[in-house]
Amino acid sequence: MKLAVVGGGVAGLAAAHRALEIARERGVSLELALFEGGDRIGGTIQTERHEGFLVEGGPDSFLSEKPWALALCHRLGIEDRLIRTDDRFRRTYVAFGGRLHPLPDGFQLLAPTRLGPFVRSELFSWAGKLRMAMDLVLPRGGDPDESLGGFVSRRLGKEALERVAQPLVAGIYTADPDVLSLAATMPRFLEVERKERSLILGLWRASRRAPAAAQGVSGARWSLFVTFAEGMEELIRALASRLPSDAVHLKERVTSVTREGEGWRLGMADGSAAAADAVIVATEAYQAGRMLRYTDPALSHLLDDIPYASSATVTLGWRRADIPHPLDGFGFVVPQIEGRPLIACTFSSVKYAGRAPDGFALLRVFLGGALNERAGGPRRARRAPAYPGPTAHQPGEPLSQGHAAISRGPSRPHRGHRGMPARSPPPCPRRRRLSRRGHRRLRPVGRRGGRARAPVHVERTRR
Ligand SMILES: Cc1cc2nc3c(=O)[nH]c(=O)nc-3n(C[C@H](O)[C@H](O)[C@H](O)COP(=O)(O)OP(=O)(O)OC[C@H]3O[C@@H](n4cnc5c(N)ncnc54)[C@H](O)[C@@H]3O)c2cc1C
Repeated sequence: MKLAVVGGGVAGLAAAHRALEIARERGVSLELALFEGGDRIGGTIQTERHEGFLVEGGPDSFLSEKPWALALCHRLGIEDRLIRTDDRFRRTYVAFGGRLHPLPDGFQLLAPTRLGPFVRSELFSWAGKLRMAMDLVLPRGGDPDESLGGFVSRRLGKEALERVAQPLVAGIYTADPDVLSLAATMPRFLEVERKERSLILGLWRASRRAPAAAQGVSGARWSLFVTFAEGMEELIRALASRLPSDAVHLKERVTSVTREGEGWRLGMADGSAAAADAVIVATEAYQAGRMLRYTDPALSHLLDDIPYASSATVTLGWRRADIPHPLDGFGFVVPQIEGRPLIACTFSSVKYAGRAPDGFALLRVFLGGALNERAGGPRRARRAPAYPGPTAHQPGEPLSQGHAAISRGPSRPHRGHRGMPARSPPPCPRRRRLSRRGHRRLRPVGRRGGRARAPVHVERTRR
């Protein structure tokens, strides 16, 4: 059987690897060809050593809570390469009013679960705290496709949305919470409301039952976020090493996937073609949409309408002594109401060991996103070293500006995403504008973004 995989990011590589595993289990002879349009595999995942700093161009970790990536590492025999976060510093700050406020202990993404730290926090006004407490008595809502923003303001009020939910969600999806589908992004909170009515009570009860890992309690094998000692590209190298040596074809851009008899024909950008019995398309949604426009126009429209926004990551190396802030956390997020170009900043060398030489610190800054796309542009990204300054207390000039990268992504599951309409929805001009915007190269390395929510796992569905 001939299988073609289009896209050499982690999704394409994991799919190819899984197909080989299944073929071996079932005694099927599989001829595999993976077509990657770029000159390297890994897609968004790219790690580099730069003057002793370990710089991640895309993801710096994955969630251990969702078991599939860990299971893949186990099957690849690379579990011993995984490292956990340094949970002594498992704290997130929120930049508000020119200061970094720690997110109160026990705050679970959208809502507080511990009274003391929440009451003492200076991040919220007393009126805001009282409004959040109203969640304890409010009735359930009814709209199953409510936006994340709508849900948080209804249950917890405007301050909870503006000061916590919006910046935390922007850090994950770089998205506007008012158009983000709660059911598609954080179904757990919808479920808590459905079962327990009050979000605060439901999360508090769940936190008492939760496994130690989810709470960052030391002694649990994995922390919530895990990565590899030498960065995320270790996963890519391990996957690639398990594929047949002639399976990967670089600089082979697929332009169309069409039916040919019982099989498929893949048209290439250089005019050549390849035949396959089965095809897995693992590219960005807008690329897949283009490839399938003649084969399945309705699906092509749906894929093309998944919105993407430009963002940039800039990684900065500093002499530790030049940063007065204790850096006793994993980083900070910045609410949009602060009016700054920054979405978030990760204290990379605090979060994981081995990211900076002794006596140095590595900070990664995120700019742009759906609510401030222009900030993700090259001009703003070049000025990035100045941005953590006022919030991390004027650390001076960075020693090394490892990367300035413009990404097109991640994709954002908007409302209606889960209940994929049978017919394609009418084109939305704004989404089209965003999804057609090409990614730009700044210096020294260009990156492409695009977040499939769980690219190494596909749920089996029965029709
Ligand atoms: C800045 C940033 C930070 C992130 N941080 C995290 C994180 O901490 N944790 C996490 O879990 N996720 C994170 N993500 C998301 C994560 O990176 C993605 O979910 C994941 O890497 C996507 O993998 P993929 O294989 O689906 O797509 P991609 O990595 O985008 O790969 C798609 C591949 O397809 C190729 N391709 C495209 N079109 C064609 C074509 N026509 N023909 C042939 N090949 C083609 C591309 O060149 C590319 O190599 C982050 C994303 C970004 C941008």
